Amino acid sequence: MERTYVMIKPDGVQRGLIGEIIGRIERRGLKISAMRMNVIDENDAKEHYSEHCEKPFFGSLISYVTSAPSVSMIVEGKDAIKSMRTINGATNPSEAMPGTIRGDFALETGRNVVHASDSVESAEREISIHFKDDETNEYCRIDEEWLYE
Ligand code: GDP
Ligand code: MG
Repeated sequence: MERTYVMIKPDGVQRGLIGEIIGRIERRGLKISAMRMNVIDENDAKEHYSEHCEKPFFGSLISYVTSAPSVSMIVEGKDAIKSMRTINGATNPSEAMPGTIRGDFALETGRNVVHASDSVESAEREISIHFKDDETNEYCRIDEEWLYE
């Protein structure tokens, strides 16, 4: 099983999309093993997005994700990293397919509602920025025997 870091960004929280987004993750069969709402610390946001530090949008990206509360989650399951990226849709919402979160709820790259890690390395790095080890929960969903062959 894989795990990934997922964030409902401040626009998703402000627009009342927390339940909608979590519902999609749960209905897919993915397991939420940690979850918290907080305003992300500026240094944590810079660390999280360090790969983009030279980009022209870096400053506005950091202001955006630290501007108001967001929801952070660890999401687990088979191919959780790829499945969450598919659920989220393309980075630019105008290229995101209908049925994806960004394709259904967003218009601009700079307000694209959600984040999910893009690789095993990023997932572990991002989880360690946003969660302490004792914040994760180990449990089985009762539907696991019907989700997995
Ligand atoms: P992601 O992994 O799909 O979220 O996309 P990236 O890693 O490429 O970019 C990280 C985040 O930076 C995106 O989700 C956007 O919020 C933001 N971003 C990326 N490209 C742009 C851009 O060209 N303009 C603006 N304003 N924000 C961007
Ligand atoms: Mg990315």
